[in-house]
Amino acid sequence: MTKKRRSGGRTGSQSGRDQPVQCAKCGRFVPRGKAKRVTKYVSLVDATIGKELRDAGAIVPRRQVTNWYCVSCAIHTHKVHIRAGDDRRKHEKIR
Ligand SMILES: [Zn+2]
Repeated sequence: MTKKRRSGGRTGSQSGRDQPVQCAKCGRFVPRGKAKRVTKYVSLVDATIGKELRDAGAIVPRRQVTNWYCVSCAIHTHKVHIRAGDDRRKHEKIR
């Protein structure tokens, strides 16, 4: 049978069972290899104050927040996009 995606829609190893992770939006448990991981940086201070501090030469701390999303939520919130048949075979990092 033909494969829709080279990876079968998963990352990591192609054999065995993945540990589940919980979707940050809907709470569904999805296999780690199937879930979409999105990392963003969140500032600890308010945006306007942070800009003033940065302009004054201060280093404003920011925290790394990693969220996992199920495929349905990742599509719905535009974390990932539906791609054309040829593009589906590419392996790219999510921004
Ligand atoms: Zn979800």
